[in-house]
Amino acid sequence: MLINQTKYFKIFESPDGTLDYWFYCPGCKSNHMIKIGGSEGWTYNGKHDNPTFEPSIQTRFLNHVKCTVFIKQGYLHYTDDCQHDSKGVVRPMEDIL
Ligand SMILES: [Zn+2]
Repeated sequence: MLINQTKYFKIFESPDGTLDYWFYCPGCKSNHMIKIGGSEGWTYNGKHDNPTFEPSIQTRFLNHVKCTVFIKQGYLHYTDDCQHDSKGVVRPMEDIL
């Protein structure tokens, strides 16, 4: 269930009580999800306009493009092993639509 939308996130509550933060990844041109809370969730600084998450977010978009990104203080830090045009790039987060 969608419970909140901010500049960078759509936030859904899962039945188990964890929160799923969806953000737009310009490298994949797709949204990725970060799970907050629970035993396997990410840590989050709680600042919707200046977010930092730990650890990195790893995705395989459409099962073939590898994407690894750190979100630090509102910036996307793409690692060198990403398989898209933003690999190794640092860029500001973009609004989620
Ligand atoms: Zn991505």
